[in-house]
Amino acid sequence: MAHQLPDLPYDFNALEPYIDEQTMRVHHGKHHAAYVKNLNDALEKHPELASKTIEELMAGVSNVPSDIQTIVRNHGGGHYNHALFWPSLAPKGQGGKIGNELNDAFDRELGGFGRFEEKFTKAATGVFGSGWAWLCLNSEGSLCVCATANQDNPLMKGIVERTGTPLLGLDVWEHAYYLKYQNRRPEYIDAWWNIINWKVVSERYVKAREALQVSAGH
Ligand code: MN
Repeated sequence: MAHQLPDLPYDFNALEPYIDEQTMRVHHGKHHAAYVKNLNDALEKHPELASKTIEELMAGVSNVPSDIQTIVRNHGGGHYNHALFWPSLAPKGQGGKIGNELNDAFDRELGGFGRFEEKFTKAATGVFGSGWAWLCLNSEGSLCVCATANQDNPLMKGIVERTGTPLLGLDVWEHAYYLKYQNRRPEYIDAWWNIINWKVVSERYVKAREALQVSAGH
């Protein structure tokens, strides 16, 4: 089955004033849609990959046939990253609270939420050119913060320096903020902290921990 552009779980204007409606329309309807189309077009050449989920394609991107590997990395990455991004956002006041398990992990592993916020902001601000900042669960079961270039993500074994299960990602490509913030990436990052869906991110944390325990048990 071909990969599909997911609907946004809120209206295009729901994240105003932090992310404006026009940016959301172009970002979802043009950028993300193009990643999906280009990924599907490339996969047509390799029907043996048709049954793979986007997560499987990302984890195994180093083994994807070389004639489409760059497209799967860039456009498959673009699809995965944006599909994770949209549900990580919520209108201000509707994103819920950080779950106890995740909150404890922030305290235990990253020195508390404030330190995490600083570290993540630094990672996002420091991306040169286009890329993403991430909060992940690593293979040891700990939280970590990192950044990747372009549309790479921490699932990509053999490609990125630090792998893990992404829990939260921030798109710092200019297309994510240029219409409203122009070159002022730090203002966009500050605004983004207001519209995180902590309920979704906290659920991802619990699920990722469970998946790790299951795989460790085998
Ligand atoms: Mn984007």
